[in-house]
Amino acid sequence: MFDKIVIANRGEIALRILRACRELGVKVVAVHSEADRDLKHVRLADESVCIGPAASVDSYLNIPAIISAAEVTDAEAIHPGYGFLSENADFSEKVKQSGFIFIGPKAETIRMMGDKISAKKAMLSAGIPCVPGNNDPLPDDNKKNLKLAQEIGYPVIIKAAGGGGGRGMRTVHTEAALINAISMTKAEAGTAFGNSTVYMEKFLEDPRHIEFQVMADSHGNAIHLGERDCSMQRRHQKVVEEAPAPGITEEQRKTIGERCAKACVEIGYLGAGTFEFLYEKGEFYFIEMNTRVQVEHPVTEMVTGFDIVKEQLRIAAGLPLSITQDQVKIQGHAIECRLNAEDPKTFMPCPGTIDQFHMPGGPGIRCETHIYNGYKVPPYYDSMIGKLIAHGEDRKSAIARMNTALSEIIIDGIKTNIPLQHDIMNDSAFAAGGQNIHYLEKKLGIY
Ligand code: ADP
Repeated sequence: MFDKIVIANRGEIALRILRACRELGVKVVAVHSEADRDLKHVRLADESVCIGPAASVDSYLNIPAIISAAEVTDAEAIHPGYGFLSENADFSEKVKQSGFIFIGPKAETIRMMGDKISAKKAMLSAGIPCVPGNNDPLPDDNKKNLKLAQEIGYPVIIKAAGGGGGRGMRTVHTEAALINAISMTKAEAGTAFGNSTVYMEKFLEDPRHIEFQVMADSHGNAIHLGERDCSMQRRHQKVVEEAPAPGITEEQRKTIGERCAKACVEIGYLGAGTFEFLYEKGEFYFIEMNTRVQVEHPVTEMVTGFDIVKEQLRIAAGLPLSITQDQVKIQGHAIECRLNAEDPKTFMPCPGTIDQFHMPGGPGIRCETHIYNGYKVPPYYDSMIGKLIAHGEDRKSAIARMNTALSEIIIDGIKTNIPLQHDIMNDSAFAAGGQNIHYLEKKLGIY
């Protein structure tokens, strides 16, 4: 195991990684921006290095500053968390070139999965079901593109190969709108992602978002830890996640999960990863792979009893997976509510000082947050200030426990989305389970 690592992130995930390090006896270097001196994990770390001003581009996205911090503190590895540089292949490559270990997959894997066309091709050849489409860059040929759309069947979606964050895609419902949509998406993709390549696939109208968690080591072993349902979304941002996904059978879990694990072995995947699928009418359709730990990893941890972050460190240190597929057992049900510093009605970010914070508790309750009394939520970063996770013997019990926890938690001084989360937990359609990705926006009256 490592002696010392750098955590190249902030907030709740940095604290989560620090806790895993503590358990493994690994020393922690926290790197932080000038605005983040008071972050909880910075205070708890063995060493800390200020890597730049508040703006992320000058600090958490500043590759030379992060690598220098690893050099001056004599650390061995860098954990990127999620967001920021976690899926940046150049960062992973530079970390390696500088003599450190990147806690995540190889640069070439990140690069392959970062391009949606190459990702889809790799998945198809590994037997993963994908959304029907052309799976190649669209040619500059209107006739061919019109024919292609006709073959796929309207509605279709034009997607940027280099797209991300829910941007760079356009839905087309009629033949008359196709050509214009292709040229607009191409132009936007060129500006936003520096790559104007676009492709076409079938637009699924009412899918659910279901994703599979995988872990793979450097000894050719890979396992899956079952699935999560992340269909409660607003503007393609997940709001509530749960595991297992309501209505998914043991057989479906086994079939898709095992294919994902097999694909990991085939592509030489390393570490934690997520295969994201759209699920409609009983069928799974791969959309993308995330090559990092996810915000929602705790729901999987709660139902499997398996520590994903600790395992990321073990794998990066060259150790084999600590469990086999047979040892993975899904027990009960877990739900996660993201806690955001935002107005629950307008969704405007709401940074500021937390006057009072009371953590909820009780059986099955887990609170992942870096906030504390007097902590000032800075305006420069994502508005997520924590996550509340409830585990119960079944879905009903998990919802009941979450409801109790949401009533107990007190965050005073700033506005939060706790009222919205309460509303979702008391919604009869949510209680029934299995709603599609449009449900929350419909409920909010914005879809
Ligand atoms: P990004 O990398 O930008 O997150 P994804 O490919 O993961 O892009 O897609 C993001 C979201 O866009 C999906 O969760 C889904 O809501 C929608 N989407 C993408 N592809 C399709 C499709 N073929 N049909 C319907 N919706 C889609």
